[in-house]
Amino acid sequence: MKTLKPVGRNDECPCGSNKKFKNCCLGVFPDEKIFYEKDVISIILEKSPQFKRYYEEKRKRIHNKLFWAIKRNSTPHIKCRNGTKPSGEHIIWLKEIPPKTIKPSVIAHEMEHIILVEEGYPYTFPRNTAINFSSFVNSLLQDPLIYRRLEKYDFDVKNDYIKNIEQLCEELGFSNSPQKAPTEELEKIKWILVYTQANLIKENLSIKEDICSFNELFNKYYKEIAEEGDRLIEVIQEMGFSTIEEQNELLKHILKKYNLESILFII
Ligand SMILES: [Zn+2]
Ligand SMILES: [Zn+2]
Repeated sequence: MKTLKPVGRNDECPCGSNKKFKNCCLGVFPDEKIFYEKDVISIILEKSPQFKRYYEEKRKRIHNKLFWAIKRNSTPHIKCRNGTKPSGEHIIWLKEIPPKTIKPSVIAHEMEHIILVEEGYPYTFPRNTAINFSSFVNSLLQDPLIYRRLEKYDFDVKNDYIKNIEQLCEELGFSNSPQKAPTEELEKIKWILVYTQANLIKENLSIKEDICSFNELFNKYYKEIAEEGDRLIEVIQEMGFSTIEEQNELLKHILKKYNLESILFII
């Protein structure tokens, strides 16, 4: 397999405008190494019939520009992330291009986030770009729907879910004898959102296994937060959140409850 080069200034713009990149979209994500979608996708289309079916049916649902880039930075276990600028352009970051070790279902998951945004599901952005946990709020609302949608394409979503929760446990220190509850307000909120998300996904997928004792550990070490999380889950369940309006209400409720309005905004 040859190594792929990112799109150069004088190459054709990846948006398909037939202009040079430097005269078209170069400034949209100026700090990113952008790649052509066909180069990114072809390997997955070849090896995954599920992804091929998904891609052929769903790619056309993304109307705004979508860019594919190499993920730099931190959180090493996250192989794939998505983002949307307030002006509407989307980006999917991958840990490696071509994605040799990234599961096709994980890439489909990121694409589905973008489709949900285009369908008008509420999406939060941090008011201060230094704060990155708005992705937790977005995941809280969108992931259960995404898991359900991807099940239709015979992806092994259940396995993805278990992996995801295990990684969250690891990341938040549940698995290595946690010492103390987070005191930072933002950390607390992150915990609550992760906890709620884990429960919500479990509810929606009807997965019965006790996955790495996530709930017990949480309750044992972080009782106060777990109670908050439980109340939030009640609200979520009452609402059912199957329509955009319900999701909007839910998101507003969460933002208000945890005084997040000054930190996040909704589009
Ligand atoms: Zn362009
Ligand atoms: Zn997600």
